[in-house]
Amino acid sequence: MTLPPYGSSDSGPTSQTADLILKNGAVFTMDANRSQVTAVAVKDGKIVFVGGDTGAEALRGSSTRVVDLQGQMVLPGLHDSHVHLTEGGLALLQCDLTGLTTVQQVLDKVASYAAEHPALAWIVGGGWALTLFPPEGPTHQRLDAVVPDRPVLLYGDDGHSAWLNAEALRLSGITKDTADPPNGRIERDAAGEPTGTLRESALDLPIAAAPPISRQEYADGLRVGLRLAAELGITSIFEANATPGVLQSYQDLDAGGELTLRVLAALATKPLEGPEQVAALIQARERAHGRRLRANAAKIFVDGVIEAQTAGLLEPYVGSSDSGSLNFTPQALNALVQALDDAGFTVHFHAIGDRAVRVALDSVEALGGTDLRPSIAHVELTDPADLPRIAQLGGVANIQPRWAIEDEDIKELTEPVIGPERAKRLYTFGSMRDAGALLAGGSDWPVSGLSPLEGIQVAITRRALNAGPGEAWLPEQLLTLQEALEAYTINGAYALLQEDVTGSLEVGKLADMVVLERNLFEVPPSQISQVRVLRTFVEGEEVGRA
Ligand SMILES: [Zn+2]
Repeated sequence: MTLPPYGSSDSGPTSQTADLILKNGAVFTMDANRSQVTAVAVKDGKIVFVGGDTGAEALRGSSTRVVDLQGQMVLPGLHDSHVHLTEGGLALLQCDLTGLTTVQQVLDKVASYAAEHPALAWIVGGGWALTLFPPEGPTHQRLDAVVPDRPVLLYGDDGHSAWLNAEALRLSGITKDTADPPNGRIERDAAGEPTGTLRESALDLPIAAAPPISRQEYADGLRVGLRLAAELGITSIFEANATPGVLQSYQDLDAGGELTLRVLAALATKPLEGPEQVAALIQARERAHGRRLRANAAKIFVDGVIEAQTAGLLEPYVGSSDSGSLNFTPQALNALVQALDDAGFTVHFHAIGDRAVRVALDSVEALGGTDLRPSIAHVELTDPADLPRIAQLGGVANIQPRWAIEDEDIKELTEPVIGPERAKRLYTFGSMRDAGALLAGGSDWPVSGLSPLEGIQVAITRRALNAGPGEAWLPEQLLTLQEALEAYTINGAYALLQEDVTGSLEVGKLADMVVLERNLFEVPPSQISQVRVLRTFVEGEEVGRA
């Protein structure tokens, strides 16, 4: 499938007055010719002119707001094609352990948070680094030492693990005799006692026991997320797992005129409830549809994560006969994907292991053609034979560039369990591009930082954000800056099925735009993420300002 034709980049009506003119800038339009111009003019939320300063000035009236950019960079509004914006905001309102680098720091934070919130029945938080603990995860005893009397539930930074204290285990009904739920695991010691770490669907046990998150809390979480997104230049998102509570938060804020970005929400599916669940998703989609909200996507978790050995691999994990498991049989996956595609949902696959990626692509192939752009998210470990299939099947590679660095996570948790040969097939963005795949960039916040510029920097350096210049990890897999920018603009719009209205700066499109303090093409690659986002416009309205 090809993108639909674009309009001309230097044309527009001259008989009307603009509301807003940006001029004297380095405006990268991301149109079909990747034109660079100096000015954009906006009227009624839409772009009415793209071209030179003189042409823009002709649209100036007495009430026109004119911004002299003095060479600053303008890009189409940035897209985050895989994010959990409500849950990320909620996490900041809970006990936030993100970025803490020692176990003691984590325990101190939990203790002080509990002391500051004496009325909370449960201490809930997240973001602890998996790398702080052995592969089998942390134990409840360490949490019991700081919070003995109230339940504590802390999500890991992989989004697939949780750490509980003894009181939370007790209230969740998890004992030695509790069987692992389907697609989940209760970590146990040598005597079979639960250690305090849970994986995948086992997290449902404490979630069911803890007080439910209120509609107000969800809405407040989304407000936090929206504020950060506006500051970072994000004007459109793909909400990657819209559970009912999460979807409601978008509906509430859209209805109240508070939604300062466009949202395509992927409705959460359940692996064990086959195609019958699609009827309820259709109803949810119809209820959700609003001014800036659509829910025409569906999320399918095909597998788990490599670090916890829950990802589905083609060959076994090192030193094991186990190659992980998928949440579906191929037949069950095909049936669900068929039902979703028939109902007009774009399917978003969480697929980490090479077998999960293959089975996801197989399910798309079984459709016999689709124009709904199914996206394979994460695509962490892939077999090269599968990469050309992404484009051939009309799909999108939904990548999280922040993960493509050789950090402790890769060195201590991933490489040891897949071995050095397979480690060369991790995050092969360059190979995907060469195989013709369209790449869309996403943060997976709160798993990784929300800033698109951080994702862009790592995509073109494959080095830690603060590592400075130096050798890239798997340098043949680097993207160019142009390609990385496309992944967060026009390609993101394509993945969100909205390239007809945004993703590039062209006459007739919505005036979603971002102003950066410097032209990224003139910034050393290792410093891209330090460039400040100065202004974020959604439909010509300034929603974020540095
Ligand atoms: Zn995610």
